[in-house]
Amino acid sequence: MLVERLTLSGQFLALSRFEPQLFNQPIEFVLANGVTVNISSPGIIQFTPASTSLKDIVISCGVHGNETAPIEICDDLVSQILRLELTPQHRLLVIFANLPSMAIEKRFVEENLNRLFSGAHSSTDGEHNFERQRAQELEQVVADFFTQGSETSERLHYDLHTAIRASKNDKFAVYPFLHGKQHSLEQLAFLYACGVNTFLLSESPTTTFSYYSSRQFGAHAFTVELGKVQRFGENDMSKFVAVRETLTALIANKELKLPEFSPEKCFIYRVNQVINKHQADFKLHFDSDTPNFTDFEKGHLLASETGAQYRCEFDNEAIVFPNENVAIGQRALLTVVATKI
Ligand SMILES: [Zn+2]
Repeated sequence: MLVERLTLSGQFLALSRFEPQLFNQPIEFVLANGVTVNISSPGIIQFTPASTSLKDIVISCGVHGNETAPIEICDDLVSQILRLELTPQHRLLVIFANLPSMAIEKRFVEENLNRLFSGAHSSTDGEHNFERQRAQELEQVVADFFTQGSETSERLHYDLHTAIRASKNDKFAVYPFLHGKQHSLEQLAFLYACGVNTFLLSESPTTTFSYYSSRQFGAHAFTVELGKVQRFGENDMSKFVAVRETLTALIANKELKLPEFSPEKCFIYRVNQVINKHQADFKLHFDSDTPNFTDFEKGHLLASETGAQYRCEFDNEAIVFPNENVAIGQRALLTVVATKI
């Protein structure tokens, strides 16, 4: 019955959200095209093709529940696979991360899920809430997925988001800190084909989902920001054609042919300052609707709180992800400066 409902309607996300008890037990079944489907819990679905797979691909969305466009894109991909309209040629794990926060149309329920990976879910300075349990579960699911794949497979993880505010560079990707490893130009070319023309090279470890996959499993992993937050059904899906088509091609083709990466068409930044909020009176000194990647001159006051002032250290230092409403101890602002790769 459940398998029929899934394969006829393709509505894995809707069933996960509104009838999660259906997935209390793990489920495995094989589609008519030979693809094996494994559902380990609500919002987590894995596809394994019958033939040998060259890549192990993780696509996650909804780490922030109100970031609807990527959720709609992934829902559509999963639905097409279940209805046999799209045949994955590689092992594929699709994760709808924070289902309860989708229900309340909020970024998260108790705590920012994307600050809880690499073990941060088990730090003692917080309650054992839903997001902490889910971070731990997602770590395990991703670990199982990568370690059960072939050792020669290329490991990929695209964690799809949308930003709270508008951005001067509509689509951008955060490249996790690689601890000295080379950045992959092939991956930048892939993201460019998805419509991403701006890359932020992180220079320190973080507790994000993409850093976890990159650091623990050597995956090519990225936090990909695909535009601005809108409500479910209110996204202009024409803005996402490139990312949908490119992800579909990645999933459905044994080999993906992409044009070579041309850095001159892109904006590449490195993170210069990570500014955390330490006091309740933390305040940003620019308008609340200032787009991401707006830049300021050296010495410009960006933010302040009791005992500290945060200023640009370089000319054309730009702001990303400003949010003065974060919990104390959390990141309230990143600054970036142009760099070369
Ligand atoms: Zn997000």
